[in-house]
Amino acid sequence: MRTLTILEPGKVKVQDTPVPDPGPGEVQVKVAACGICGTDVHILRGEYMGDYPIVPGHEFAGQVTATGGGVARIRVGDRVAVEPNIACDNCRNCLNNRQNFCLNWEAIGVTLQGGMAEYVVAPEKAVFATGELSFEAAAFMEPLSCVVHGVERAGIELGDRVAILGAGPIGLLLLQVARLRGGVEITVLERQEARGALAEAYGAQRWVRDVEALSAGAYDVVIDATGVPALMAQTVGLARKGGKVLLFGVPPSGAELAVDAFAVFERGLTLRSSFTSRRNSYQALALLESGAVSVDKLVSHRLPLEAFEQGVSLIEKGGDEVTKIMMVPDMAP
Ligand SMILES: [Zn+2]
Ligand SMILES: [Zn+2]
Repeated sequence: MRTLTILEPGKVKVQDTPVPDPGPGEVQVKVAACGICGTDVHILRGEYMGDYPIVPGHEFAGQVTATGGGVARIRVGDRVAVEPNIACDNCRNCLNNRQNFCLNWEAIGVTLQGGMAEYVVAPEKAVFATGELSFEAAAFMEPLSCVVHGVERAGIELGDRVAILGAGPIGLLLLQVARLRGGVEITVLERQEARGALAEAYGAQRWVRDVEALSAGAYDVVIDATGVPALMAQTVGLARKGGKVLLFGVPPSGAELAVDAFAVFERGLTLRSSFTSRRNSYQALALLESGAVSVDKLVSHRLPLEAFEQGVSLIEKGGDEVTKIMMVPDMAP
């Protein structure tokens, strides 16, 4: 099979490798679509995680082509998406329902072979049947599950006014789930015209280009989806007294956050972050299958494995036309 491998930071190769056989309790999936995520960018650049050499890709969907012994819930031919975080289910954190902090954590596309290959194997417990969903929509199960977890942590209440900083694919998912959760009058900060227009199409009441155009101290909940420390720091000034802040975007590792510490105290703010997801895949699928969350306008590019670095640089440049980029492993180069 054709496999994209990051040999070491900055060094990528598409090579022929044996198709992995499913062992007991494992499922073999032929990958149809695999989104490029910021984490893949960080692994390519050597900034974050990654056990090299690694086949990246943790946001993917495809069709089951084989199952190992003992697999019961998933069948050959099923259309599926995969939850990439593999928890051991037997450590102190797993047994306290904190699977996202499993002490023996592994992740497909980070420590285990990922979805940027024609085939991948995954433990059955990580595989979810996706019914009639398109493969591309199903590939959003993972990022959407992280968004569901984040919005639950944000504690949005009915009628809350919400500000969301950043309208990339994740910001646009946060926007939709925040609305479902009861957020109203959602304002989105986004510099790019096309993304701002998408935010309006997905239900934002308004979008603004500059952070100065947001109202200080006005929002019940402020969500950062940029990971830009200078913007993350401004969330504190935007939240109302007693309000909540969710830091969702991934900042560069080692970056410092300079917030007005006295303001956090005096204004009784709740600051939270959110790390991956915690058993949110079925919720994500229900949102996608019901149409409650739409990803129809979120895919901007479809690329063969050979164009991975091109896809990454499109994301890094962050052009107006770039939303989610899907790698299609069986697309000819
Ligand atoms: Zn991701
Ligand atoms: Zn564990």
